[in-house]
Amino acid sequence: MELCSNPPRESTSPFDCLLFDLDDTLYSSKVGIGEACKRNIEEFLVKKCGFPEDKASSLRVELFKTYGSSLAGLRALGYDIDTDDYHGFVHGRLPYETIKPNPQLRNLLRTINQRKIIFTNSDRNHAIKVLDRLGLQDCFDQIICFETLNPNLSKSSRPDEFPVVLKPSINAMKIAIDVAQVDPCRTLFLDDNERNIAAGKVVGLRTVLVNFQLFSACVGACALRGFVSSVKDWDTG
Ligand SMILES: [Mg+2]
Repeated sequence: MELCSNPPRESTSPFDCLLFDLDDTLYSSKVGIGEACKRNIEEFLVKKCGFPEDKASSLRVELFKTYGSSLAGLRALGYDIDTDDYHGFVHGRLPYETIKPNPQLRNLLRTINQRKIIFTNSDRNHAIKVLDRLGLQDCFDQIICFETLNPNLSKSSRPDEFPVVLKPSINAMKIAIDVAQVDPCRTLFLDDNERNIAAGKVVGLRTVLVNFQLFSACVGACALRGFVSSVKDWDTG
C-alpha cells in the first residue's frame, strides 16, 4: 500500500473522512467503564487462566505494556483463549448504564458531512452497546473494530498462529486505512491515546489527540460551529 500518493482534490475541506476512537474519546473515562474493564480482565486472569489473585493487577499492566492488550499477551504466551469468551467476560458485564445519551455530541456529528468511522480495539458488541447508550448509533458510516483487525483468529489452530492485531501497531493502522478505503492524508484521526496518535502519524493520517473533558467543554460551550469549521481548517501538525 502506497500512502499519501493521491494529489489533493478540489474541496473546501482538507478532509474526506473522520476516524473516531470510541472509549474515552466519545465518552468520558470518568463514567467508570475503563475501571470496570480492568477489574474484569483481572478476574479473567484469575478465574480462567489460574493466575494468583495478588499478581493479576501487575500482570494485566505488564501484558498491556508488552503486547498491547491482555488478550494479545495471553495468546502470544500460548494460552488458547477464545476471543468471544474473553470479550463476553470482560465487556459483557460492564456497567453500560453509566453511559448517558449525549445529544450535543449527536447534533455535532450530524452537522459534519464527511464520512465518519469508528476505529476501536474493542469488539463489535461493545462498540454497538456504547453507541446505543450515547444515542449515536446512526451517526457513523462504518465500525472498524477487533473483528475487522483480526479476521483469521477464529481459524487458528494454535494461539500464536495469528498474533492479535490492535492499535497502536502500524499493521492495525494500515488495515483500517485499507478497510475504510481512505487517503490517510485526507483523513482526520481522533483518539485519546498518545501511542495511537503517534502510529496514526506514521501512516500519514492527520491527527487530533482528544481530551474528552476539553472536547466536551467545547461542545457544552456552544462552540459547535467552531468545531465544525475546525474540521475544515484544523492545523493538526
Ligand atoms: Mg480510547
